[in-house]
Parts: sequence; structure tokens; C-alpha cells
Amino acid sequence: MNILIIGSGGREHAFGWRIKQSALTDKLFFAPGNAGTAALGTNLIINPNDFEAVKEAVLKHRVKLVVVGPEEPLVRGIVDFFKDDEGLEGVTIIGPSKMGATLEGSKDFAKQFMLKHQIPTARYLTVTAQSSEEGKAFMKDLKAPYVLKADGLAAGKGVVILEDYEEACAELDRMLGGKFGAAGNSVVIEEFLSGIELSVFVLTDGEEYFILPEAKDYKRIGEGDKGLNTGGMGAVSPVPFADEAFMRKVEEKIIVPTVHGIHKDQIDYKGFIFFGLIKVGDEPFVIEYNVRMGDPETEAVIPRLKNDLVELLMATARGDLKAHKAIVDKRTAVTLVLVSGGYPEQYQKGLAVRGLEKVDASFVFHAGTAFQSNQVVTNGGRVFALTSFGNSIEEARSVSLKNAERVQFEGRHYRKDIGFDLI
Ligand code: ATP
Repeated sequence: MNILIIGSGGREHAFGWRIKQSALTDKLFFAPGNAGTAALGTNLIINPNDFEAVKEAVLKHRVKLVVVGPEEPLVRGIVDFFKDDEGLEGVTIIGPSKMGATLEGSKDFAKQFMLKHQIPTARYLTVTAQSSEEGKAFMKDLKAPYVLKADGLAAGKGVVILEDYEEACAELDRMLGGKFGAAGNSVVIEEFLSGIELSVFVLTDGEEYFILPEAKDYKRIGEGDKGLNTGGMGAVSPVPFADEAFMRKVEEKIIVPTVHGIHKDQIDYKGFIFFGLIKVGDEPFVIEYNVRMGDPETEAVIPRLKNDLVELLMATARGDLKAHKAIVDKRTAVTLVLVSGGYPEQYQKGLAVRGLEKVDASFVFHAGTAFQSNQVVTNGGRVFALTSFGNSIEEARSVSLKNAERVQFEGRHYRKDIGFDLI
């Protein structure tokens, strides 16, 4: 069958790489893709949020399966668009309905859902400009630091954590005053949880679930997890502290009640759920839900998951996930993200990339890359994700580091400490 992958990052390249290996795959398309995905299939110059354009491409190229990488089209309702359009009958799309995607699109909705279904999460209060004084009183009851979250999508920048009460009150006023635009019309104020974070992923058909390998990602630009927040600078899978006993708790206390909650609330959801978790003592708590896979976690997780991904996605759509068991490579995968100089602030694009042919024993997943006169050039902040296997974090990381050094472009930066904290 012909398959379309929506998105242009390392996540979509990793999906495409695995999907290409399936006997069920005929032609592969990406919208819009990058220089790496062009080697696996055909890149289509389409804006993923232009659903009519996506539909046209699906019909033209006789696509039967659509996999949506990023959250924005999901939150805007691409799944509902596909299901409501008679012309798209017989086309399978993987992802939650618009209502399901609200678990990521509105932090207040996600918190209400967790409260209703008794899923462990931080104590919270949601406020608007009208109720900001209640918010400040609620913060008085909490201990520092104070966690403030814009309710809507804010490109990963909508969470502010502050030590000082007065500063937190001032920031709350700024957020409610439009600092993050409409995304901050409501602000979720949360109790700060102290612990270590990890990401857990499942595929759900709305009733059953299939657990993928877990991962830990590294968000800050600098070594020691210092400096500005980024889309992600690296990932490790598996996560040593997520042992069997802990993962059993995650399943019982978080995955099962979430999937049951989706079913009970009659939310149409056939896709990935990404649980952003924090381990406090021995207990898991949900920090956030995402309604798609993570990037760069996908680049560490998908190489470890050896199942036929197309078969798994079709089983998700059919409601037949129960019949599938994860086949997981026991080795450790370490992913390093190579970024443009200046990222996550200003950076240059169009810089020539050299040395890709020298990479040995690592997967090279392209992210912000493009072709210019037959040459791979940088085209974004995060440029490549390099994933390597090893029998330990140290072993896998050393292969990734060796290869990261071989991939050259002006201003290239990557973190050398990915996984350090787990050893
Ligand atoms: P992302 O960039 O992952 O999409 P986001 O903007 O959706 O992030 P969250 O994941 O909710 O926001 O929060 C971002 C980060 O802030 C978390 O990864 C975590 O490190 C920290 N954080 C959020 N909530 C809490 C909390 N209650 N206690 C401690 N830390 C928190």
C-alpha cells in the first residue's frame, strides 16, 4: 500500500526508515519531508496544516495509510477532516480525533481528564484574567518553585518555573496579559514535583494498548542540562531506572486508567499517546500528555522496536492491537542531535554539510536538512539525529560521538553528556 508520512523532522525520517522495511509498503511519500526522507520516497511540497492539499495528494498518489508526525495538524483536527470526508473513504489515518488531541492542545483539559480518571499528577488550579487573584492565593499555599503553564500550544515555550513568589505573580499577570497570545488566556498553576523524568509511549486503538520502549530525552541546549530549552538534544532508550516493577506501576496507575478514560469519555483515539512522566520516590506522575511520538525519542525508540510498524499501525486502526506483542532489541540506543550554531535562538540556514558518507555504525536521521544543487544543506535548528546501539549507554554514546564528529557543518553543536545522568 502507498503510505504518506506527515512532517519533516528526524521523527518522520525514523518512521519512514522503519515503514520502508515492511512488506506491506509500496510507495512512500512525505509531506514535506527533508533531504533524508527523499532517499526513502517522494517529498511533496505541502503544508501539513492545509488539509485540502493533503487530501489532494492522498487521492492523486492513491495513499491508503497516513501517519501524522507533529501535533499541530492533530490539534487542528486532521483526523476528523479525514473521517468526515466521503472522498477519503478507505484511507486510514493514524492519530486522535480533535477532541483526543485536546489532551495535548489544552493543559487544563488534560488536568481535568486526569482528575476525573484518578491518574496521578501534580495538584493544580486553572485561572483566567478574571480569577488571577485566586491563582495567587493558590500559589501562596504551594511551596516554591512555582510552575505556570499556558493552557494552549506555545511551541514548547509555554511553561515557566520560578523560585520567587512575587516574580511568579508578576509572570502570571504577564501570561494572562497575552505574553503567549491566546494560548495563555488560561494558565494552569501546578505544584512542583521533584524527581527524574522519562517518556513512555503507547499505541492505542481506543480500547487496547501496545507499549513501545521507553526513553529519556534531554531538553536543554547545554551540557549538564543547562541553558535554553530546545526541541530536544538527545535521547536514551531503555531508561535504566524504569525497571520492571516501576513500569508495572506506570501501566497500572497511568496507562490503563488513561486508555479506559478515553474509552469511557467516548473519545475517538487511534494513535500514539506519549506520557511525559516524572518518578517521584518510587511513584510515577503525569507531567503532560502528548498525542504523537516525541522527537528525538522516536529516533531512539523506533530502531529498538522490531515489529512490522505498518502491521502495527493497521492493527491500531482495525482495533486489533491485542494480538500484538512488542519485539524489542535489548541493546541501548543513544541519540545525539546535531544543531545549528545559535539554536534555539537565531541561526543560519543553507550551510553545506560534509562527511555524511564517513558515518559508520550509526543511523543518520535527517531533521532540518534540504538539497541545494545536489548538496545536503542545513535547513533548520535541529539538523540531524544520530542513533547508535551498544551494550551500555557508554558504548552506544561513544559510537554516536565518533560519528557526530564526522558530520561537519559550520557552527555545528551537540551535547556530549547525553545519558551521563543515567550511568
Ligand atoms: P514540551 O516542550 O515537552 O512539549 P510543554 O511546553 O508541553 O513541554 P510540559 O512538558 O508540561 O510543557 O513542561 C515542560 C517541562 O517543565 C517538563 O518537561 C518538566 O521538566 C517541567 N515541569 C512541568 N511541570 C512540572 C511540575 N509540576 N513539576 C516539576 N517540573 C515540571
